[in-house]
Amino acid sequence: MRLIPRSALLAAVAAVAAAGCASSSMTAGERQALRVAAIPALDSARLMADLFRLAHDSMAGRAAMTPQNAQARAFLAAELRRLGLDPVNGSHEHPFAMPRRNSPDSVRGVNVLGLVRGSRFPDRVLVVSAHFDHVGVRNGNIYNGADDNASGTAALLQLAAHFRANPASHTILFAFFDAEEMGLLGARAFVAAPPVPLAQIAANVNLDMVARGDNGILWAVGTNPWPQMKPIVEALVPAAPVTLRMGFDTGTGRDNWTSQSDQGAFHAQGIPFVYFGVEDHPDYHQPGDDPEKVNGGFYYGAARTIAAFVARLDAAVADWPMR
Ligand SMILES: [Zn+2]
Repeated sequence: MRLIPRSALLAAVAAVAAAGCASSSMTAGERQALRVAAIPALDSARLMADLFRLAHDSMAGRAAMTPQNAQARAFLAAELRRLGLDPVNGSHEHPFAMPRRNSPDSVRGVNVLGLVRGSRFPDRVLVVSAHFDHVGVRNGNIYNGADDNASGTAALLQLAAHFRANPASHTILFAFFDAEEMGLLGARAFVAAPPVPLAQIAANVNLDMVARGDNGILWAVGTNPWPQMKPIVEALVPAAPVTLRMGFDTGTGRDNWTSQSDQGAFHAQGIPFVYFGVEDHPDYHQPGDDPEKVNGGFYYGAARTIAAFVARLDAAVADWPMR
């Protein structure tokens, strides 16, 4: 599918806004263009409620291999069932064991997966992901990880609800990864034993720390190594409800975020990615990463921006050659 010229999209959006709803006289193509052009509305109350739930003290920082991590996992699997997402190879829960860094022990974790089958190209898959684990309790302090990454997790639930109601043309596999904080282990386990062939995965979109927005900027990372992503982000910038910028994907060291969250596991397999996140803030990996500090307006805008990106990526991928 071709991307529709922006002027035509804006005209279609204006016409529909004037009419109050999608007119029955629109062609299927016009309705599809409108769906891609619009910045989706999500359930902002549930978005925030889910973030508070995951970052509550009762979740004790959701560290891998803890009962509270299992509690978070059970909540996510129940939500995927409630939303009606399909299980992946028969289950929403995918256990794994991965070697621990600098230790003979292995880490046992469980990824939570669900999918919405594509309406036109069900055999090509977009993996949209967020890690649900955090670092737990240290020296008696609970690290609630509201931004890192209750925010991406709750936003991913909203994206799952949105695309369940508005299926994309490609299959979207929603992946809630475990044990990211121990070295991207859930994502690495996923690509090491992929539930769908890696060759069918067209792209990864990863969410990690999308709520704080202390400076109002959401970063889209990955357009430098994966330039096919750049026009999609560029076209979204003027329409996005938050300030959207590209960067943090060149050079060496801490200012290159390419491998600093789960997208790194996909990038290492040659799978194009875009990672969405905010810059580090004073509460990054501190006990003060609490839900009360989340900027609700920014967070909702970021979630909508990412939903719009996934819809536009879905349209663009139809023109990409198979890997
Ligand atoms: Zn994180």
